Amino acid sequence: MPTSDRSLRITEIFLSVQGESSHAGRPCAFVRLTGCPMRCVWCDSEYTFYGGEKIEFEDIFTKLNEFGCPLVEVTGGEPLAQKNVFPFVKELCDRGYEVLIETGGYFSIEEVDKRAAVILDIKCPASGESERNYWENLECVRPDVDEVKFVVANFEDWVFATVMIDKYDLQNRSKQILISPVHGAVNLPVLAEAISKSKYNVRLNLQLHKYIWGADVRGV
Ligand code: SF4
Repeated sequence: MPTSDRSLRITEIFLSVQGESSHAGRPCAFVRLTGCPMRCVWCDSEYTFYGGEKIEFEDIFTKLNEFGCPLVEVTGGEPLAQKNVFPFVKELCDRGYEVLIETGGYFSIEEVDKRAAVILDIKCPASGESERNYWENLECVRPDVDEVKFVVANFEDWVFATVMIDKYDLQNRSKQILISPVHGAVNLPVLAEAISKSKYNVRLNLQLHKYIWGADVRGV
């Protein structure tokens, strides 16, 4: 049955710079949705699991219009856990925004508007959630648009990433492969050396916002 509900449960809407991915450093408006079914052990956004506020699409658009930023990232929590995110993203695209969706890889990305770019996590073993990766998503990743991200908490996770890159041909399947160390948990020189000596065309993806504002600051 069609629904007239045009709202999303939102934790925060804010203007900042994009902190990760090949878009890092660009001005970006963020719409952070509430809720996530996963429980990655190193999760840095547990404050999104509960609470939030139901906000109508129009009020979100008004806020984004005030920001005047042409790049919008829809994130969470897990943004795809709310079914209304799909029409919301479509309307963002209709309004001419460049849209990024950052998803944890548990839900299918098939219904995401094709004008939006997906940044898809593949959960590594140290997250405790690698059994819940929805591998079929890799069939939907587009080589000229979408990015695949491995958050690595130790060297074994990096090795896991290389195995998955080969197994799923991710260098040809995605626009960019991101290797994103858990902030403060990884020996960065060791990881950087391993990446530099590897044959993989990946990007070491430091979380820019944490170096600018600190690890525990929200809304940046
Ligand atoms: S998928 Fe993202 S929001 Fe959910 S628990 Fe993992 S890191 Fe946290």
